[in-house]
Amino acid sequence: TEQTFDVVVVGSGGAGFSAAIEAKEAGKSVVLIEKMPAVGGNTLISGAEMNVPNNWVQEKLGIKGDSPEKMAEDTIKGGDELGDPHMIQVMTENALDAATWLKDDIKVEFLDDQLFQFGGHSYKRALIPKGHTGQEVITKFRAKADKLEIPIKLNTTAKELIQENNRITGVKAENKEGQMITYKAKNGVILTTGGFGSNVEMRKKYNEKMDESYMSTVTEGSTGDGIIMAEAVGADLTNMENIQTYPICNPKTGVISLLADTRFDGAILVNQEGKRFVEELERRDVISNAILEQTGGYTYQLWNDDINKISGTMKVHEAEYEELLKQKMIVKADTLEEAAAFFDIDIQNLKETVKKVNQYAKDGKDEEFNHRGELVSLAKGPYYIEKAAPSVHHTMGGLVINDKTEVLNKDGQPIPGLYAAGELTGVIHGSNRLGGNAITDIIVFGRIAGQEVSK
Ligand code: ADP
Repeated sequence: TEQTFDVVVVGSGGAGFSAAIEAKEAGKSVVLIEKMPAVGGNTLISGAEMNVPNNWVQEKLGIKGDSPEKMAEDTIKGGDELGDPHMIQVMTENALDAATWLKDDIKVEFLDDQLFQFGGHSYKRALIPKGHTGQEVITKFRAKADKLEIPIKLNTTAKELIQENNRITGVKAENKEGQMITYKAKNGVILTTGGFGSNVEMRKKYNEKMDESYMSTVTEGSTGDGIIMAEAVGADLTNMENIQTYPICNPKTGVISLLADTRFDGAILVNQEGKRFVEELERRDVISNAILEQTGGYTYQLWNDDINKISGTMKVHEAEYEELLKQKMIVKADTLEEAAAFFDIDIQNLKETVKKVNQYAKDGKDEEFNHRGELVSLAKGPYYIEKAAPSVHHTMGGLVINDKTEVLNKDGQPIPGLYAAGELTGVIHGSNRLGGNAITDIIVFGRIAGQEVSK
């Protein structure tokens, strides 16, 4: 069968919804196809914090001096200068408008009195959605898409792009029953299929270190389909070897720990010997690599109730806490001795470590690791110790797009009718994506894709 729309959007994460909604609001007929039985992709299961310089919460908290230029500097540096400076500038300059759109048009609720400062960022600039996960973002996107009557085809996998006289004119997709459906696109196709973290063969093809020994934090839909389909019509790829691991994940399941976001508010990382070994707000790649060098290839994150009060993660991630308790991956205890004994951590060293941290917290200066945020005194229990290890989280590489989100071929020329936004593009994050930058990336460029395809 064949169906015709102005715009076909492939993949229903944050990038796909942004694109579909913008195109529909520009007056186009739009279809959104999704291979999984539910919408949301990794956007849904992420923390969904969004870096936005000069945002309204910074203003309320009296945080001054941030700017799109400073966020761009952090992003370029964080990716070892492998990101495209122009594209990064487009992202940071449009961040505030994108966040305002999410808040006012999509009705996403953000906390109005708290921000995160992720590793590599020079300011607290990450807005936090209600509940600290992408559930809030995707639920509101879905409601908006339903209101706009955008058809969403679940269990429908895009297999191949249709190219006629050089122009992309649609996609061939397969539904659950194994039927092939052709979705013709009068204006163009927007690929928003996410990364390839769940495709071990593809990971190994571009970076042999990222093999089966790594678990992954991402959904099973992240198999690089959009990258493969676009490559087949001549698209250029970049930064493909750059695959990010997230440092603090469940060592048994690979699942990212959002409970452990206490790390952004003073929780420390120690090894089996009870010693700190890295600055807790370092880049993800640096922390991950440092963890893998420790005994057993894991770390323990330690915090107390004072830190819980600051970060609020225990309240919003209670289900994760219960699960970790069951799996014996976390312990809560009144004394440091008791907590350390649970994991057989060297208690003398740990006490020494905590004593030093308490002093650094008091002095406002971390003599050993130069912690760039605020350390908090760990003098008082109850304590939490969570065991964690890195797992594959984000694939930085992908399609080369320009500032209109047109997909470029190997000669740097746009492939007519083909657009892309989100994790499957490779131009922003270079060697290493900074925390909270993915949501900014996918919303900013998802919106641009929806606007551009409608012109
Ligand atoms: P982003 O953050 O870039 O928006 P996500 O991972 O949140 O990426 O979303 C990508 C979505 O695309 C996922 O829901 C995934 O299941 C879907 N997807 C991946 N490959 C295909 C495909 N071939 N056809 C349809 N949907 C796909």
